Amino acid sequence: MSALGPGATIGFIGGGQLARMMAIEARRLAFNVVVLDPKANCAASQVTNTTIVGELSDVNALRTLSAQCDRITLDTEHVDAGALKAGTRPDQVFPSPEIMATVQDRLVQKQFLTHIGVPQTRYADVQSEQGLERDAAAFGFPAILKSRKGGYDGRGQYRIESHSDVASTHERIANIPSVLEQRVVFDKEFSVLLARNPRGQVRHFPIAENIHRHHILHMTRVPADVGAGPVARATEIASTIAEAWQYVGVLVIEFFLTNSGDVLVNEIAPRVHNSGHYSWGGCRTSQFEQHVRAIAGLPLGDPSLVRPGVMVNLLGDLWTRGEPNWERVLQNDDVDLHLYGKGKGWPGRKMGHLVVYGATVDLAAARAEEVFNSLLSG
Ligand code: AMP
Repeated sequence: MSALGPGATIGFIGGGQLARMMAIEARRLAFNVVVLDPKANCAASQVTNTTIVGELSDVNALRTLSAQCDRITLDTEHVDAGALKAGTRPDQVFPSPEIMATVQDRLVQKQFLTHIGVPQTRYADVQSEQGLERDAAAFGFPAILKSRKGGYDGRGQYRIESHSDVASTHERIANIPSVLEQRVVFDKEFSVLLARNPRGQVRHFPIAENIHRHHILHMTRVPADVGAGPVARATEIASTIAEAWQYVGVLVIEFFLTNSGDVLVNEIAPRVHNSGHYSWGGCRTSQFEQHVRAIAGLPLGDPSLVRPGVMVNLLGDLWTRGEPNWERVLQNDDVDLHLYGKGKGWPGRKMGHLVVYGATVDLAAARAEEVFNSLLSG
């Protein structure tokens, strides 16, 4: 695959905050940027050269994008893999339609991980109410039921608390193909971010420790405090996955660290990820620039940590009384503010994030709480 230079065009399928941040970094390297999104005023449209308005899985819209781009990448995994293949040229899209097909179905993703021998949460395909009852009992209550396709940030997930919940939960999923997971009692959640380019160069970002609230990422702490053994095992697992796919781009693997010190894969994101936002300011090269470099066939940048940092998501809940008072953030020397230009905020909508730096990650976390809380008071 040839390397791209300034003036080449990179396309994004989906124009959310991830595309926006990749587009900003792509434009810094003098690439042209085109985005496909159903909304003309999507978050990425403010920083792209061209916005094509269309559905992400519409083959004709994808063909229009394909005709304008040297390379294409994705802002979301919710793009039909068949449409992606039909609407683009071979070797134009990273990750490939085949990888997307594996990742966007939780069951297929888990079967792939089983196939390559990677430790993960115990799971079972849900075929019938009787099977669900049997597997949930075997895993132990509560167990977690997840839709195979389309779920994210906890959407499409149900906890089955006890035997008496099985029938009603099975009814709720009705004809939605689903997978059952054992509930993991974990000490910590963390993610491994790596990038791989077409020449096989691989570089790892520092490990990120994630704290969720209501299934949505609230805070990421870097460096993670998960111990050398788990870091080594998780790093090796992430590399195994990247090599199995001959992956090109940024790849993120989310892990659970169990009470007994085991690492289990929770899920794979074949793209830049919320838990890597800290890297823009926290690392020599951000995950967004690194992804652009990788898909452009360029040498990867240095992902090493510049300083400890804590990322805090700014969800639309903060907008209930109107636009938050950003002066409370901007008056601080140790904080970066990123806003995604989405306009209207609603509960759970990712509107922006803060990265707060400190001499240690604990000091950064304490400051992050202070700065975040200053936005909560009226
Ligand atoms: P997911 O969208 O599957 O990553 O789930 C979002 C969050 O829900 C995870 O980051 C965990 O905090 C929690 N979660 C999901 N699956 C499990 C599980 N099998 N056991 C325990 N917690 C889980």
